[in-house]
Amino acid sequence: MFHWLSNYNYDFALASVPVQLLLVLFYCFRRNLPIRQSYCFLAVMISNFVMTTADIVSCEMNEVWNDFPLWVMYAINILYFLPFIIRGWALFAYAAEVCRAFQRLGRWFRILTLIPMSFAVILTLSTPWTAAIFTIDPATGYHNCAMYQTIYVSTYFYIGATFFAVIVSWKRLNTRNRTGLVACNTVLLLGIIFRKLFINTLVTSYFSIIVIMIIYLSSENPDLFYERRIGLFNKYAFIRICDDYIEKNIPVNAIMISAHNLETAKHLYGANQIRRQMELVTKRLMGVAAKSYIFYIGSGNFIVLSRETSDAPELTARKWKRQFERQLKTSEEPVPLTFTVMLIPFTILKKELERIDDLLRFSASKSYIENQRGNFTITETTLSNLQRERDIETALKRALEQRRVEVYFQPIYSTENKRVVGAEALARLNDERLGFIPPNEFIRVAEHNGDITELGRQIFDHVCRFVTSEKVEKHGIEFININLSPAQCLDEDLAADLSGIAFNHGVPMKMFDFEITESFIDDHQAILKQMTQLQASGAELSLDDFGTGNSNIAQLLKLPIHVVKLDMSVVHSYFSGESRILPDLIRMFRNADMKIVVEGVETEEMKIRLAEMGCDYEQGFFFSKPVPPQIFLDYLKTA
Ligand code: C2E
Ligand code: MG
Ligand code: MG
Repeated sequence: MFHWLSNYNYDFALASVPVQLLLVLFYCFRRNLPIRQSYCFLAVMISNFVMTTADIVSCEMNEVWNDFPLWVMYAINILYFLPFIIRGWALFAYAAEVCRAFQRLGRWFRILTLIPMSFAVILTLSTPWTAAIFTIDPATGYHNCAMYQTIYVSTYFYIGATFFAVIVSWKRLNTRNRTGLVACNTVLLLGIIFRKLFINTLVTSYFSIIVIMIIYLSSENPDLFYERRIGLFNKYAFIRICDDYIEKNIPVNAIMISAHNLETAKHLYGANQIRRQMELVTKRLMGVAAKSYIFYIGSGNFIVLSRETSDAPELTARKWKRQFERQLKTSEEPVPLTFTVMLIPFTILKKELERIDDLLRFSASKSYIENQRGNFTITETTLSNLQRERDIETALKRALEQRRVEVYFQPIYSTENKRVVGAEALARLNDERLGFIPPNEFIRVAEHNGDITELGRQIFDHVCRFVTSEKVEKHGIEFININLSPAQCLDEDLAADLSGIAFNHGVPMKMFDFEITESFIDDHQAILKQMTQLQASGAELSLDDFGTGNSNIAQLLKLPIHVVKLDMSVVHSYFSGESRILPDLIRMFRNADMKIVVEGVETEEMKIRLAEMGCDYEQGFFFSKPVPPQIFLDYLKTA
């Protein structure tokens, strides 16, 4: 094979060269995070690559030193020593960035840890004149000199410093980073020991490439930070870049732009068309925020990290919304999406970065309503609301674990039979710390975090147990209404699950009427599927809270629903004289052969008038507030 001049074994070094080249090129051609941690990693890769190639070339040239001018010999050897030293430092600096060691341990740590590298670099650069590290004798060639060991001492120092940084930050690091850094450092140490043991084999670069691969695969792969379909940085990139700005104390605002009706639009226009629209939105955003970093964090939410931090973030956010909307209006294709804008100021980013996921989710879910109220900024008040949601989330989790969520019942009166014939089951949560939590609050939290499925099951289980143990039919109860939130209907197994629970208790499904909220109905095909299955199992379906959303009535009448519950706001506004729509609604639903339930019946006058107007059922405080099961039974006995 190839005839090498020196006695060195290059097998390991040669094998690692193409791998390193590929990694460096791949890394450089991807868009990388503009943060120190990534720069340090790039420095490790480049220095290792230069070191490996210069090592092979210099070892060969050292055999025939007389064939080259002396300065070339010095240059090629220095080209090996310098990256050797820098690689040791860069790997340490990378680890220190991951551990945030420079920030935690202060300036002195950064300065102190620069000394060994600077010293070794100066010695190496001065070596042609001082013969500190090596010398090239015109007669005998290359020789190590007195200070040669400095380059190893410097590397040992950085290995030690890395272990120190990792230990100091042990608790702050996550398991992946902790294991990654310890593994890298150990492999590097092994590389040096092997090099010392097998002095004629060039193995260090091989060990370094293992280190690089560990880091690359575990945390520095550019693809981890990229949203391919949209072509923007993703949420992880956002967190890292924010973190970097915060550490450097460079103020930035995060402007969150959310497509409010993305799910509905997908349903109406198809996923492909919406994807094209999102690409267009990306282009527009790039136009408006050319100098800022833009991220796509999923579910129609974009974030622009803006260095433009004025004293009035509210104004910045409004200006942003106007500008962005103007850009979209001038698009060649109209975008059927509504966008909301929420600005997260630097002070809040700084405080909440550790729990940013929650804040982003909260901001996305609240931005529509907040924008309508004229609010475009996340404030301390928003944060305290978020804290309340977190507390409720914990309280609910606790209650679900201990099966402590209760069910109250509110009677439903039949105008035809002139007696109570049914009841609505309503969830109640009483927490030892937070006290009574209104269902509207904890249901919303449960819908967001997915606990609604378990909550729904537990409530239904309570109701079934109540129905069988108390034999409610004997007290004239013909049906029980159960609330279903649209989020529950997204669960494919909902209908099967509920039928299973009823079956276990020996209660027929025709005993139940499931109430579904109107405003969400056109959002999901899945809801229709679950509704059809529930109906097939014998249950009745009602449309809850009619009059609060803005659904298309013609569309609603096509649904397999035969009972509609008119929201108390419609009822109350009729009785207060604000709106006269109620009689027309009642007439329309009667013509469509639907049964009508009115909510919010609070007085005897309301009870009588609503019956005259043609309502089939009535529910409200006039009959009873929602009460615990036992009190409900007492009520039935006396009613
Ligand atoms: P909803 O289904 O429309 O329930 C009726 C709400 O109106 C109940 O509030 C009830 O206490 C209240 N209400 C009844 N009659 C009157 C009245 O005459 N005057 C006034 N001012 N209010 C009256 P609640 O119990 O606070 O429940 C609020 C909402 O929480 C419910 O509205 C329902 O959407 C949701 N919810 C409650 N329990 C559950 C549940 O188990 N599962 C699901 N998915 N949602 C539930
Ligand atoms: Mg209801
Ligand atoms: Mg209702």
